[in-house]
Amino acid sequence: MSEAPARCGVIGFPLAHTRSPELHRAFAEQCGLAQGYSVLAVPDSDFEPAVRTFFANGGCGLNVTLPYKQRALELADSASERAVRAGAANVLARQALGTVLADNVDGVGFLRDLKRLQFDPRDSKVCMLGAGGAAAGVTGALLEAGVGAVGVLNRSVGRAQSLISRMDDRRVTELSGEGGTFDLVINATSASLANECPEFPDELVGRATLAYDLVYAREPTPFMQRAAGLGARVSDGWGMLVEQAAESFFVWHGVRPDTDPLRLETR
Ligand code: NDP
Repeated sequence: MSEAPARCGVIGFPLAHTRSPELHRAFAEQCGLAQGYSVLAVPDSDFEPAVRTFFANGGCGLNVTLPYKQRALELADSASERAVRAGAANVLARQALGTVLADNVDGVGFLRDLKRLQFDPRDSKVCMLGAGGAAAGVTGALLEAGVGAVGVLNRSVGRAQSLISRMDDRRVTELSGEGGTFDLVINATSASLANECPEFPDELVGRATLAYDLVYAREPTPFMQRAAGLGARVSDGWGMLVEQAAESFFVWHGVRPDTDPLRLETR
């Protein structure tokens, strides 16, 4: 690795617990690619100037995390279709002429992890708990993948309705009283971060359900524990985190790292 390292990083606030640097260091090593990776924990008023300075100084790409995913989409010169549909960007990438592209790789990361779990989303019936940026990215990807139906249940009804109108697809509806059991129940709320479980009726989950918490956790989250108690197969979001990091690496460098060793070893 003799060339100058491509400058990449993650921007958000706070960033004390980010796992992105270790994932990206391992990807760069695996691919024999020189990449420096910085952690930019910037307060609210500094977000746009920090991004502009980063790219003006030759930066190659940024991962964007809470609370800046929407502002990242707004400040970029162009955006991918998946970022526009999600209304949020978690990747910024410098383009050939120095312009900045906004992208969203949450959905593709989620679909790759579903594949590992041998869950085929085609024609499946999905319940989406939560209606924030991650729910939007994942719902868009599920629609692309041919999902049968997505019922959205969120603490604040207004946000669920905004997600449904943003998706603009008759397969995405508010969860009705007679939803029955779902093939896949996704916890796309941030409740697990507060060690809480979002409210949902027991009947959504059965023995054939895959219950997936987007939050990555070393121990089962309250959502995973409850779903397992109802007979479901469960997963946390570590695999998705690794896959979306690999996809952002691909967006920046055009090389896709092998995620298997990282998913198994880095944890
Ligand atoms: P947002 O802040 O955009 O949305 C948060 C959502 O959680 C909202 O729907 C909110 O409801 C809901 N919520 C928050 N607290 C509770 C609670 N106590 N009970 C019920 N609902 C609650 O966050 P994101 O969509 O960006 O992220 C959601 C989660 O997904 C985060 O925990 C994040 O760590 C995880 N994530 C994981 C990724 C991975 O790669 N594994 C990638 C991206 C995100 P309301 O609208 O009512 O406020």
